[in-house]
Amino acid sequence: MRLLSVIEGELNLLFLFELEDGKRIEAVLYRGDTLCVSTQVGCPVRCIFCASGREGLFRNLTPQEILEQFRIVNRFFPVRRIAVAGIGDPLLNWDSVKEAFWDFKGMGLKVSFYTAGFPPERLRELLRLPHSGVTVSIHSADPTLRKKMMPHAGDLGDTLRVLEEELPKMSKKRRNRISLAYMPIKGLNDSDEEVERIGRLARRLGVSVTLLYYNRVSDFEPVDPARYEEIFLKLRSMGVRVTLSTRFRRDRVGGCGTLLVNREVLV
Ligand code: SF4
Repeated sequence: MRLLSVIEGELNLLFLFELEDGKRIEAVLYRGDTLCVSTQVGCPVRCIFCASGREGLFRNLTPQEILEQFRIVNRFFPVRRIAVAGIGDPLLNWDSVKEAFWDFKGMGLKVSFYTAGFPPERLRELLRLPHSGVTVSIHSADPTLRKKMMPHAGDLGDTLRVLEEELPKMSKKRRNRISLAYMPIKGLNDSDEEVERIGRLARRLGVSVTLLYYNRVSDFEPVDPARYEEIFLKLRSMGVRVTLSTRFRRDRVGGCGTLLVNREVLV
């Protein structure tokens, strides 16, 4: 695996890697010390709003390929935290991700995850690991709409069942590290009813909502900033803890959903 290029955004640094078989993946350094790593070449979940899963899955990464992203970047910038949130879903390459996770932990790194939460038994295993945070991408609490948005994310009911079973067993401190990701997209999942459904779900589970701002990578549009704020306030008024999208997540380089497989043209 070799580093092909480093692309500088307003805040983030995007590292473009070429694998032994010529395929290309990406990792993003944000906040100066946190590395978002990829786990698959492509993604089988194929969320309709995400650039990374546009062409489906080419193959899984090996544990060494996941670790190598860190090793290369760490030569130039000391990395303290790993976000397993790049291209691919960690639960769909679970054995490799687990192996890499324990190696990262062995090096004293904090490791957090983003996942669609499927298959359910792997989600359970993930929740029980000594992670530093797990964000489960929900995006809609309506199973039909979620299926439309995240066609191969498994059954929402199964994911929620695992959360319902596991969350009460956790200490408050650990439960505070679990969050539901909700990214409102104009005209798709941004209705008042949807916001209320998400709010009720988060309240019932006792977890926070990570309110992501959509980075435009397809024909879909983000909600207006005023609506984004309204949604934030509505969730807050329901008694839900809400984390807003940071500027790092919104950077045109390396922001959420913008990573590409086999990138050809450099920005
Ligand atoms: S948002 Fe995540 S799970 Fe969905 S296609 Fe993109 S990388 Fe895969």
